[in-house]
Amino acid sequence: MQSLLDDVIARNRQWTQKGKVADYIPALSTANSDALGICVTDVNGQEWAAGDARTFFSIQSIVKAVTLLCALEDAPIRSIAKVISFEVCSDSFDSIANLETSRSHKPLNPLINSGAIAIIPFISGKAYEEKFLRVVKLIRQMTRNQSIEVNDKVYKSETLTGNRNRALAYYMKSTGTLSGDVEEVLDIYFRLCSIEVTCHDIARIGAVLAGDGLMPGTGEAVANPNSCRIVKAMMSTCGMYNESGAFATSTGIPAKSGVGGGIMAAIPGKMGIGVVGPALNSKGNSVAGIRVLSDLSSKLKLSIY
Ligand code: GLN
Repeated sequence: MQSLLDDVIARNRQWTQKGKVADYIPALSTANSDALGICVTDVNGQEWAAGDARTFFSIQSIVKAVTLLCALEDAPIRSIAKVISFEVCSDSFDSIANLETSRSHKPLNPLINSGAIAIIPFISGKAYEEKFLRVVKLIRQMTRNQSIEVNDKVYKSETLTGNRNRALAYYMKSTGTLSGDVEEVLDIYFRLCSIEVTCHDIARIGAVLAGDGLMPGTGEAVANPNSCRIVKAMMSTCGMYNESGAFATSTGIPAKSGVGGGIMAAIPGKMGIGVVGPALNSKGNSVAGIRVLSDLSSKLKLSIY
Protein backbone atom coordinates (compact mmCIF):
# COMPACT_ATOMS: atom_id res chain seq x y z
CA MET A 1 0.00 0.00 0.00
CA GLN A 2 2.78 2.46 0.93
CA SER A 3 4.57 2.22 -2.41
CA LEU A 4 1.25 2.40 -4.25
CA LEU A 5 0.38 5.68 -2.47
CA ASP A 6 3.87 7.12 -3.09
CA ASP A 7 3.48 6.23 -6.78
CA VAL A 8 -0.03 7.64 -7.10
CA ILE A 9 1.08 10.96 -5.59
CA ALA A 10 4.20 11.18 -7.78
CA ARG A 11 2.24 10.33 -10.94
CA ASN A 12 -0.50 12.88 -10.32
CA ARG A 13 1.47 15.80 -8.89
CA GLN A 14 1.54 17.46 -12.33
CA TRP A 15 -2.25 17.97 -12.08
CA THR A 16 -1.82 20.50 -9.27
CA GLN A 17 -0.67 22.91 -12.01
CA LYS A 18 -4.05 22.68 -13.76
CA GLY A 19 -6.13 24.24 -11.00
CA LYS A 20 -6.45 27.45 -8.97
CA VAL A 21 -6.77 27.89 -5.22
CA ALA A 22 -10.08 29.34 -4.04
CA ASP A 23 -9.88 33.10 -3.51
CA TYR A 24 -13.54 34.07 -3.04
CA ILE A 25 -12.80 33.52 0.65
CA PRO A 26 -9.57 35.62 0.82
CA ALA A 27 -7.92 33.55 3.59
CA LEU A 28 -8.01 30.48 1.33
CA SER A 29 -5.94 32.19 -1.37
CA THR A 30 -2.72 31.70 0.64
CA ALA A 31 -2.95 27.89 0.40
CA ASN A 32 -0.05 26.10 -1.31
CA SER A 33 -1.40 25.23 -4.74
CA ASP A 34 1.43 22.70 -5.35
CA ALA A 35 0.55 20.59 -2.33
CA LEU A 36 -0.73 17.05 -2.84
CA GLY A 37 -1.11 14.48 -0.09
CA ILE A 38 -3.09 11.38 0.83
CA CYS A 39 -3.88 9.29 3.89
CA VAL A 40 -5.68 5.94 3.94
CA THR A 41 -7.19 4.56 7.17
CA ASP A 42 -8.70 1.10 6.91
CA VAL A 43 -11.60 -0.07 9.07
CA ASN A 44 -9.14 -2.00 11.28
CA GLY A 45 -7.26 1.20 12.07
CA GLN A 46 -4.17 0.66 9.89
CA GLU A 47 -2.96 3.90 8.33
CA TRP A 48 -0.71 4.85 5.43
CA ALA A 49 0.18 8.34 4.16
CA ALA A 50 2.11 9.85 1.27
CA GLY A 51 3.03 13.25 -0.15
CA ASP A 52 1.95 16.35 1.76
CA ALA A 53 -0.37 14.48 4.10
CA ARG A 54 0.57 16.74 7.03
CA THR A 55 -0.51 19.92 5.21
CA PHE A 56 -3.20 21.79 7.15
CA PHE A 57 -6.27 22.99 5.27
CA SER A 58 -9.77 24.06 6.21
CA ILE A 59 -12.37 21.34 6.12
CA GLN A 60 -14.90 23.56 4.26
CA SER A 61 -17.75 21.58 2.72
CA ILE A 62 -16.42 18.22 3.91
CA VAL A 63 -17.95 19.20 7.25
CA LYS A 64 -21.38 18.99 5.58
CA ALA A 65 -21.11 15.18 5.75
CA VAL A 66 -20.63 15.43 9.52
CA THR A 67 -23.39 18.01 10.07
CA LEU A 68 -25.72 15.73 8.10
CA LEU A 69 -24.62 12.78 10.25
CA CYS A 70 -25.32 14.75 13.46
CA ALA A 71 -28.75 15.88 12.24
CA LEU A 72 -29.69 12.30 11.27
CA GLU A 73 -28.61 11.09 14.72
CA ASP A 74 -30.49 13.87 16.52
CA ALA A 75 -33.76 14.29 14.57
CA PRO A 76 -36.14 12.01 12.65
CA ILE A 77 -35.38 12.03 8.93
CA ARG A 78 -39.10 12.71 8.29
CA SER A 79 -38.83 16.12 9.93
CA ILE A 80 -35.57 16.95 8.11
CA ALA A 81 -37.11 15.91 4.78
CA LYS A 82 -39.95 18.38 5.32
CA VAL A 83 -37.52 21.25 4.70
CA ILE A 84 -34.60 19.70 2.78
CA SER A 85 -34.77 17.40 -0.25
CA PHE A 86 -32.37 14.50 -0.79
CA GLU A 87 -31.92 15.04 -4.53
CA VAL A 88 -29.04 15.83 -6.86
CA CYS A 89 -28.29 19.41 -7.80
CA SER A 90 -27.02 20.37 -11.24
CA ASP A 91 -26.19 23.94 -10.19
CA SER A 92 -23.13 25.21 -8.32
CA PHE A 93 -22.80 24.53 -4.58
CA ASP A 94 -23.82 28.05 -3.61
CA SER A 95 -26.66 28.43 -6.11
CA ILE A 96 -29.81 30.24 -5.03
CA ALA A 97 -31.79 29.42 -8.20
CA ASN A 98 -33.69 26.34 -7.16
CA LEU A 99 -34.71 27.85 -3.81
CA GLU A 100 -36.75 30.35 -5.76
CA THR A 101 -37.96 28.31 -8.73
CA SER A 102 -39.01 25.09 -7.00
CA ARG A 103 -42.51 25.12 -5.60
CA SER A 104 -41.45 23.76 -2.21
CA HIS A 105 -38.51 26.25 -1.91
CA LYS A 106 -36.54 23.42 -0.31
CA PRO A 107 -32.75 23.17 -0.74
CA LEU A 108 -32.04 20.23 -3.06
CA ASN A 109 -29.77 18.34 -0.66
CA PRO A 110 -27.86 18.69 2.63
CA LEU A 111 -24.42 18.70 0.95
CA ILE A 112 -24.81 22.03 -0.87
CA ASN A 113 -24.57 25.33 1.01
CA SER A 114 -28.32 26.00 1.32
CA GLY A 115 -29.06 22.50 2.61
CA ALA A 116 -26.12 22.51 5.02
CA ILE A 117 -27.29 25.83 6.50
CA ALA A 118 -30.91 24.66 6.78
CA ILE A 119 -29.90 21.45 8.57
CA ILE A 120 -28.15 23.19 11.49
CA PRO A 121 -31.37 23.72 13.55
CA PHE A 122 -31.86 19.91 13.57
CA ILE A 123 -28.61 19.33 15.45
CA SER A 124 -29.22 18.85 19.15
CA GLY A 125 -28.35 21.60 21.60
CA LYS A 126 -30.55 24.27 23.14
CA ALA A 127 -28.12 27.11 22.70
CA TYR A 128 -26.44 27.61 19.31
CA GLU A 129 -23.03 27.12 20.92
CA GLU A 130 -24.13 23.63 21.99
CA LYS A 131 -25.02 22.72 18.40
CA PHE A 132 -21.59 23.88 17.25
CA LEU A 133 -19.86 21.89 20.02
CA ARG A 134 -21.93 18.79 19.21
CA VAL A 135 -20.39 18.71 15.70
CA VAL A 136 -16.87 19.63 16.86
CA LYS A 137 -16.93 16.94 19.56
CA LEU A 138 -17.99 14.29 17.06
CA ILE A 139 -15.20 15.38 14.69
CA ARG A 140 -12.65 15.17 17.53
CA GLN A 141 -13.95 11.73 18.43
CA MET A 142 -13.97 10.41 14.85
CA THR A 143 -10.48 11.78 14.14
CA ARG A 144 -9.06 10.78 17.56
CA ASN A 145 -7.67 14.30 17.51
CA GLN A 146 -8.56 16.49 20.48
CA SER A 147 -6.61 19.43 19.05
CA ILE A 148 -9.09 20.00 16.21
CA GLU A 149 -9.91 23.75 16.23
CA VAL A 150 -11.36 26.50 14.07
CA ASN A 151 -8.79 28.50 12.07
CA ASP A 152 -9.65 32.03 13.18
CA LYS A 153 -8.25 33.73 10.10
CA VAL A 154 -10.42 31.60 7.82
CA TYR A 155 -13.45 32.07 10.09
CA LYS A 156 -13.07 35.88 10.03
CA SER A 157 -12.60 35.81 6.27
CA GLU A 158 -15.71 33.62 5.78
CA THR A 159 -17.73 35.92 8.01
CA LEU A 160 -16.61 39.06 6.20
CA THR A 161 -17.18 37.75 2.69
CA GLY A 162 -19.98 35.18 3.10
CA ASN A 163 -22.67 37.30 1.53
CA ARG A 164 -23.90 34.57 -0.83
CA ASN A 165 -24.46 32.31 2.17
CA ARG A 166 -26.24 35.17 3.94
CA ALA A 167 -28.47 35.58 0.89
CA LEU A 168 -29.29 31.85 0.90
CA ALA A 169 -30.05 31.88 4.61
CA TYR A 170 -32.27 34.99 4.56
CA TYR A 171 -34.10 33.71 1.49
CA MET A 172 -34.77 30.42 3.29
CA LYS A 173 -35.92 32.34 6.36
CA SER A 174 -38.40 34.25 4.20
CA THR A 175 -39.91 31.01 2.84
CA GLY A 176 -40.06 29.34 6.27
CA THR A 177 -37.43 26.73 5.35
CA LEU A 178 -34.86 27.96 7.86
CA SER A 179 -35.94 28.07 11.46
CA GLY A 180 -34.20 29.96 14.23
CA ASP A 181 -31.93 32.98 14.33
CA VAL A 182 -30.37 33.45 10.89
CA GLU A 183 -27.17 35.15 12.10
CA GLU A 184 -26.57 32.50 14.79
CA VAL A 185 -27.08 29.68 12.26
CA LEU A 186 -24.74 31.37 9.77
CA ASP A 187 -22.12 31.86 12.47
CA ILE A 188 -22.15 28.10 13.20
CA TYR A 189 -21.92 27.36 9.46
CA PHE A 190 -18.93 29.71 9.01
CA ARG A 191 -17.14 28.31 12.05
CA LEU A 192 -17.70 24.70 11.00
CA CYS A 193 -16.34 25.36 7.49
CA SER A 194 -13.22 26.94 9.06
CA ILE A 195 -12.16 23.90 11.10
CA GLU A 196 -8.54 23.06 10.34
CA VAL A 197 -7.64 19.47 9.46
CA THR A 198 -5.09 17.27 7.69
CA CYS A 199 -5.58 14.27 5.39
CA HIS A 200 -5.19 12.03 8.43
CA ASP A 201 -8.21 13.62 10.09
CA ILE A 202 -10.54 13.34 7.12
CA ALA A 203 -9.36 9.79 6.30
CA ARG A 204 -10.40 8.80 9.82
CA ILE A 205 -13.83 10.42 9.43
CA GLY A 206 -14.17 8.47 6.17
CA ALA A 207 -13.14 5.25 7.92
CA VAL A 208 -15.88 5.65 10.56
CA LEU A 209 -18.47 6.17 7.81
CA ALA A 210 -17.00 3.19 5.91
CA GLY A 211 -17.35 1.06 9.04
CA ASP A 212 -21.01 2.01 9.59
CA GLY A 213 -20.29 4.19 12.63
CA LEU A 214 -17.63 2.04 14.32
CA MET A 215 -14.25 3.50 15.24
CA PRO A 216 -11.49 1.83 13.19
CA GLY A 217 -9.52 -0.59 15.30
CA THR A 218 -11.47 -0.34 18.56
CA GLY A 219 -14.97 -1.01 17.19
CA GLU A 220 -16.47 1.62 19.51
CA ALA A 221 -19.81 2.80 18.09
CA VAL A 222 -19.97 6.58 17.55
CA ALA A 223 -22.85 6.76 15.06
CA ASN A 224 -25.80 4.75 13.89
CA PRO A 225 -25.25 2.45 10.84
CA ASN A 226 -28.41 3.79 9.18
CA SER A 227 -27.26 7.43 9.52
CA CYS A 228 -23.87 6.47 8.03
CA ARG A 229 -25.63 4.69 5.16
CA ILE A 230 -27.63 7.83 4.32
CA VAL A 231 -24.52 10.06 4.51
CA LYS A 232 -22.65 7.72 2.13
CA ALA A 233 -25.64 7.63 -0.25
CA MET A 234 -25.67 11.44 -0.32
CA MET A 235 -21.88 11.56 -0.81
CA SER A 236 -22.18 9.17 -3.79
CA THR A 237 -24.87 11.21 -5.47
CA CYS A 238 -24.12 14.81 -4.40
CA GLY A 239 -20.72 14.93 -2.65
CA MET A 240 -18.78 16.38 -5.59
CA TYR A 241 -21.51 18.92 -6.40
CA ASN A 242 -22.39 19.24 -10.08
CA GLU A 243 -19.45 16.99 -10.93
CA SER A 244 -20.84 14.05 -8.94
CA GLY A 245 -21.95 12.11 -12.03
CA ALA A 246 -18.58 12.38 -13.77
CA PHE A 247 -16.80 11.48 -10.51
CA ALA A 248 -19.04 8.41 -10.07
CA THR A 249 -18.15 7.18 -13.54
CA SER A 250 -14.39 7.80 -13.18
CA THR A 251 -13.98 6.77 -9.55
CA GLY A 252 -17.16 5.18 -8.21
CA ILE A 253 -16.72 5.90 -4.51
CA PRO A 254 -18.72 7.95 -1.99
CA ALA A 255 -16.76 11.20 -1.51
CA LYS A 256 -17.18 14.76 -0.25
CA SER A 257 -15.05 17.68 -1.38
CA GLY A 258 -14.37 21.13 0.04
CA VAL A 259 -12.97 24.36 -1.39
CA GLY A 260 -9.99 24.07 1.00
CA GLY A 261 -8.82 21.40 -1.46
CA GLY A 262 -9.70 18.33 0.58
CA ILE A 263 -11.68 15.29 -0.52
CA MET A 264 -12.90 12.74 2.02
CA ALA A 265 -13.89 9.30 0.72
CA ALA A 266 -15.58 6.39 2.51
CA ILE A 267 -15.32 2.96 0.88
CA PRO A 268 -18.04 0.82 2.51
CA GLY A 269 -16.59 -1.92 4.73
CA LYS A 270 -13.03 -1.10 3.66
CA MET A 271 -11.43 2.26 4.33
CA GLY A 272 -11.52 6.02 4.59
CA ILE A 273 -9.35 8.13 2.31
CA GLY A 274 -8.30 11.76 2.82
CA VAL A 275 -6.72 13.72 -0.02
CA VAL A 276 -5.52 17.33 -0.14
CA GLY A 277 -4.71 19.35 -3.26
CA PRO A 278 -5.80 23.01 -2.92
CA ALA A 279 -5.72 23.73 -6.69
CA LEU A 280 -9.38 23.51 -7.73
CA ASN A 281 -11.30 23.14 -10.98
CA SER A 282 -14.24 25.36 -11.98
CA LYS A 283 -16.69 23.22 -9.93
CA GLY A 284 -14.69 23.84 -6.73
CA ASN A 285 -13.18 20.34 -6.57
CA SER A 286 -9.47 19.49 -6.25
CA VAL A 287 -8.10 18.76 -9.73
CA ALA A 288 -5.23 16.53 -8.60
CA GLY A 289 -7.31 15.09 -5.75
CA ILE A 290 -9.84 13.69 -8.23
CA ARG A 291 -7.01 12.18 -10.32
CA VAL A 292 -5.45 10.58 -7.23
CA LEU A 293 -8.75 9.03 -6.15
CA SER A 294 -9.59 7.78 -9.62
CA ASP A 295 -6.10 6.25 -9.97
CA LEU A 296 -6.29 4.58 -6.55
CA SER A 297 -9.82 3.37 -7.18
CA SER A 298 -8.82 1.57 -10.36
CA LYS A 299 -5.63 0.10 -8.80
CA LEU A 300 -7.46 -1.20 -5.70
CA LYS A 301 -10.80 -1.88 -7.46
CA LEU A 302 -12.68 0.35 -5.03
CA SER A 303 -15.65 1.30 -7.20
CA ILE A 304 -18.92 0.40 -5.48
CA TYR A 305 -20.74 0.03 -8.82
N1 GLN B 1 -17.33 27.86 3.22
C1 GLN B 1 -17.58 27.59 1.83
C2 GLN B 1 -18.78 28.38 1.37
O1 GLN B 1 -19.71 28.43 2.07
C3 GLN B 1 -17.81 26.12 1.61
C4 GLN B 1 -18.02 25.76 0.16
C5 GLN B 1 -17.28 24.54 -0.31
O2 GLN B 1 -16.38 24.01 0.33
N2 GLN B 1 -17.63 24.12 -1.49
O3 GLN B 1 -18.83 28.96 0.32
